[in-house]
Amino acid sequence: MNGLRSLPVEKKTAGFEEVYTSPAAAAMDGAADGAGASYALDLCARIARCTDVEGTITRLFLSAGTRQVHALLRMEMESLGMQVRVDAAGNLRGMYAGQSADAPVLLTGSHVDTVPDAGRFDGVLGVAIALAAVRALGRRRLRFAIEVIAFSEEEGIRFRLPYLGSRALVRTIGVQELARVDEAGVSVAEAIDRFRLNVEELGAAAITAGTFAFLEVHIEQGPVLEALGLPLGVVTGVAGQMQVEVIFRGRANHAGTTPMHLRHDALAAAAAWIGCVEALAKRTDGLVATVGTMRVSPGAANVVPGTAVVSVDVRHALDEVRRSAMRDLLAAAEREGGRRGVTVTARELSRQEAVRMETGLVERMAAAVGEAGFPVHRMVSGAGHDAMILAKAVPAAMLFVRTPGGVSHHPDETVAAADVEAAIGVLLSVMERLESSTAEVSG
Ligand SMILES: [Zn+2]
Repeated sequence: MNGLRSLPVEKKTAGFEEVYTSPAAAAMDGAADGAGASYALDLCARIARCTDVEGTITRLFLSAGTRQVHALLRMEMESLGMQVRVDAAGNLRGMYAGQSADAPVLLTGSHVDTVPDAGRFDGVLGVAIALAAVRALGRRRLRFAIEVIAFSEEEGIRFRLPYLGSRALVRTIGVQELARVDEAGVSVAEAIDRFRLNVEELGAAAITAGTFAFLEVHIEQGPVLEALGLPLGVVTGVAGQMQVEVIFRGRANHAGTTPMHLRHDALAAAAAWIGCVEALAKRTDGLVATVGTMRVSPGAANVVPGTAVVSVDVRHALDEVRRSAMRDLLAAAEREGGRRGVTVTARELSRQEAVRMETGLVERMAAAVGEAGFPVHRMVSGAGHDAMILAKAVPAAMLFVRTPGGVSHHPDETVAAADVEAAIGVLLSVMERLESSTAEVSG
């Protein structure tokens, strides 16, 4: 595996075979350790054709594209000897039985919904790699069953409600969520009904007592692994996140007749503060902070701005660091406002506590990466994932796959065949490690 790391993968615009034929993949073709990536990438290409909007990859929650991807994956899973069902939240689940009917269950997979005009790998790759791993078992049965799950909804596009798929597994979909409506006025409950699923059976989507772990392989969607020259990253946790709206209120006035020392310029205060946000994040290890929106009023070239409403998104692996950063930032806003006679108020928009992946699983994954011949890079995910939701109920771990150019949520999203092969190998190796430890426990 070692020699595969730096091999280039040419990206052309023609058919799938050309796009993903690297010298490495070509050399491995037919070989035991090259077939997995070909299989997974071919599956991703076929899933990409399941879409709500022709000419793009767009699959929203419980849409026509979802139905197509279910039909495709059902056939694929059944051909691998799996029992397939769709739960009431629209998650497609394939069960690869263990040696006994009451075997514990390893859950693995990712989501198959997308943002509008997406790439073909975000989420989907995790399902394809899970199936490639089951396929590599060659009908061998383990001491545990493997349930491969294609989550129905992670991106939260249709209902502005992310993680509906994985939330069904941890029983956090309630009356409020089911009543949420999309742009057409269709509620989540109605969407479930229209998809010919029974909302009353939502409870049966929950993970069972025998489920002992969840493993998710996902593209990194960022530039870190590429910058390090590494194919894989071991995720230790998902960063906590907080979004706050900060409102700077000064006094609008004439841009020509109001001298500088008599102004209460809300935008000047906000602008100075944005500099503070960037500076604090740059000097705090692991902190990311983003001002992503700003509304200025009255918003005329010849008027001193009276109000600036600014959003800030702050994330860190440690909740205390994130909280302390947010306190510092709000103090800085008051300071910059105070200098200009501008008042500052803040309103919390959303908050997500940090989630840690389970140490035992993380260590098994790290050992598998190391044994495959790659340096072990542990990293915190700055984005939310299904594993973050599942971690509330079951030990969870994640493996990141290098994302060339860090490009994601875009048709140009890509992966290298050699990296995919490495990820399949690591997932299989973690399964083997779990198989050995199951053997120890059971005697
Ligand atoms: Zn994703």
